[in-house]
Amino acid sequence: MAQEDYYGVLGVDRNASDKEINSAYRKLAKKYHPDINHEPGAEEKYKKINEAYEVLHDEQKRAQYDQFGSAGVNGQGFGGGQGYGDFNDFGGFGDIFNDFFGGASGGGQRRADPTAPARGEDLDYTLTIDFMDAITGKKTQVSYTRSETCQTCQGSGAEKGTHPVTCDKCNGSGYMTVTQKSVLGVIRRQTVCDKCRGRGVVIEHPCQTCHGQGVVQGKNTIEVNIPAGIDNGQQLRYEGQGEAGKNGGPYGDLYISYQIKPSKDFERNGTTIYTTVPISFAQATLGDEIKVKTVHGEKELKIPAGTQPNKQFTLRGEGVPYLRGNGNGDQVTTVQVQIPQSINEQQKEALVDFVKAGGGSISPQEKGFFERLKEKLQ
Ligand SMILES: [Zn+2]
Ligand SMILES: [Zn+2]
Repeated sequence: MAQEDYYGVLGVDRNASDKEINSAYRKLAKKYHPDINHEPGAEEKYKKINEAYEVLHDEQKRAQYDQFGSAGVNGQGFGGGQGYGDFNDFGGFGDIFNDFFGGASGGGQRRADPTAPARGEDLDYTLTIDFMDAITGKKTQVSYTRSETCQTCQGSGAEKGTHPVTCDKCNGSGYMTVTQKSVLGVIRRQTVCDKCRGRGVVIEHPCQTCHGQGVVQGKNTIEVNIPAGIDNGQQLRYEGQGEAGKNGGPYGDLYISYQIKPSKDFERNGTTIYTTVPISFAQATLGDEIKVKTVHGEKELKIPAGTQPNKQFTLRGEGVPYLRGNGNGDQVTTVQVQIPQSINEQQKEALVDFVKAGGGSISPQEKGFFERLKEKLQ
């Protein structure tokens, strides 16, 4: 799905307050409502406006959108396709809708049947894992609380042997029209049916287990196969592991976001691993073969003669496994040339000889702090 600029659609900036978003939405929804605006493309635009509003007026969806873009929200089954007029939006969007059409236009309102099967809500779960588990992959278990279809009544909410009956007050629609007098005249508003509370059915003998709700809170445990190469912030979908559906609808999905603990040995950026390794002045000068830590164990690294400080070496294929496909990224190792803090007499002589052999001269400094300070002050 293409990335949608929801802020752009509503013409507000990214820091817009709820009030600004509501106000922008009302203006645009009025302008492009298909009952009012018959220009080509208006309906399409109206849908986009509603899609943007549905995400941005919900604190949680907005945060998700800010982080992952529209793919993040739409991928999770909310926003986009569900569209406006969904029964769940009765309290939020429905009220705004009625505010400017007074419930009179009728034509623009599409209410879902409250007794129709509806898919359950999606759930989010953050799983924190060790650095190396993200490299090698791991099987683990995740437990969380979710709503589950009541096994006693199979989700109907009615006691065994009884059935929910269609609400006679709203004829099963779940909403009713009330008339209100205001300074603007008589306004007809649609509101949730107070007899069945929007369910469209009345349960005369509620199930004892779920008290007529059709769902109970339960602990769900699933096996999770963490794929090798998973990265910080990546999210995987576990189908049917979300909340129970309504009226026999399917379960929602579970989205697990991965958070990876840092490592003391390695830094990671995508599939590349970064490390540093100390080498001596002599190793840098003469060259050597050393062992470096990688996520796949210790590996040999050839240090050529004349290696300069902070030189980076790439160890091909020693990085993070590709999540899709075969092979690994690389490891980039930076060498830090260490200057010894103290050396013995023999080493000192050897170094002075080293300089002399190159035709230079050197006068080693071996003064204490106060002597050096005195020298400076003179
Ligand atoms: Zn029950
Ligand atoms: Zn009713």
